[in-house]
Amino acid sequence: MSQDKSVIKGFALMDMSVRGGQYVGNWRVLMPVVDESKCVACGLCATICPEAAIKGKPKVKPKIDMRFCKGCGVCANECPSKAIEMKKEAA
Ligand code: SF4
Ligand code: SF4
Repeated sequence: MSQDKSVIKGFALMDMSVRGGQYVGNWRVLMPVVDESKCVACGLCATICPEAAIKGKPKVKPKIDMRFCKGCGVCANECPSKAIEMKKEAA
């Protein structure tokens, strides 16, 4: 009998060499909110998001795909314009 190698004792193995692609579910506590009046469209947040949840590039304001954002706050912490604020997720 062949065994599914992607599942071992109930744990799914993830390819850690690829960013993102994992849905957040409903456990996120904080969510990033972009103040477009402060954003200078530098593209940094899209580059550094460990979940690849932010689509953007220089000269294009970012769009965050909340299906994949884990609420880690890296983008808010690193934004040079302080344009991203972490807010409590609505219940
Ligand atoms: S890092 Fe900040 S200023 Fe740069 S694109 Fe993202 S939100 Fe805008
Ligand atoms: S909070 Fe974390 S996961 Fe969500 S968009 Fe920002 S850097 Fe990506």
